Amino acid sequence: MNISCSFCNGQMEIYQIPRYSKLFTSICIILGLLFSISIAGILLGIIFLVAGLYSAFAKKEVWYCPSCKAVVGRLDDKQKIKKAA
Ligand SMILES: [Zn+2]
Repeated sequence: MNISCSFCNGQMEIYQIPRYSKLFTSICIILGLLFSISIAGILLGIIFLVAGLYSAFAKKEVWYCPSCKAVVGRLDDKQKIKKAA
């Protein structure tokens, strides 16, 4: 499937970007480590650590235009491209 960029008519490519922000990932890992210090909080700590690790590796695919650096989400691609135009 090929999609041309609505801004410069260049060929868009599939590009992977992190699904969650680095801030969200860091907060989850820090909370996880803090909770894990105490025995009472270790279960909660593990949950936060797992969430942090998951968000560190979770990616989402977007359409990326190498010529003008436009990025468009892949869900209902074409609609969004038209709306952005
Ligand atoms: Zn473009």
